[in-house]
Amino acid sequence: MIPGARLIILGRQGAGKGTQCVRLSRHFVVPHISTGDMLRAAVREGTPLGQAAKEVMDSGGLVGDDTMVGIVSERLNSDDARTRGYILDGFPRTVGQAEALDLVTGERPLDAVIDLDVPRSLVLERLSARRVCRDCGTNYVASGNERQPWICEVCGGDVMYRADDTPDAINNRLDLYEQQTSPLINYYQATGRLTVVDGVASPDEVFARLTAAVEASRRK
Ligand code: ADP
Ligand code: ZN
Repeated sequence: MIPGARLIILGRQGAGKGTQCVRLSRHFVVPHISTGDMLRAAVREGTPLGQAAKEVMDSGGLVGDDTMVGIVSERLNSDDARTRGYILDGFPRTVGQAEALDLVTGERPLDAVIDLDVPRSLVLERLSARRVCRDCGTNYVASGNERQPWICEVCGGDVMYRADDTPDAINNRLDLYEQQTSPLINYYQATGRLTVVDGVASPDEVFARLTAAVEASRRK
């Protein structure tokens, strides 16, 4: 394994992208850049960005392209991302964002764009069982038998529903995925950059498929 990589992981909400991206970032020793985490941190801290984004996020909508492109370009220009690379999780989410990203990454092109594919019928179930630590963002899967209050193993924070994991917001996000994000599959396929990884398997098996897909794209 060669450390360092520039990767985009696409996939429906609830496909397991977040946890796989954390593992991939340790494996390739690169920063995990999650736009959802960045926005949630801004909401917690009450910054102008957070105040503007909160309502859109809670309803399951998308924050504007210009805002998102600004945040991500700035992050990609920091030292770690320039030298080691990055794993982009949750960005791009629209063709406009993908086009802007191609301009930003012009000199240092992507190693791989991976679509972690899990059908909509399956992710609905997973999202309703999803809980998240309010303080550090670690994801958990609820079985219904947890002791309350549920305390995060990583940081001791409260584990709770994400504000946007209500049935309405979940459906809204999945509809927006079909309308706005799924066209990215064609966008990257058309330029020969896309690898589809079947995300219906155990987390370890999916992780093995993802690392194999990255290595295979690098050999191309
Ligand atoms: P999920 O994949 O479960 O929808 P994320 O954690 O990736 O959640 O993002 C949470 C919310 O943050 C999104 O529903 C959206 O409102 C906003 N968001 C995150 N990334 C983007 C993006 N690239 N463009 C627009 N909005 C975004
Ligand atoms: Zn925590």
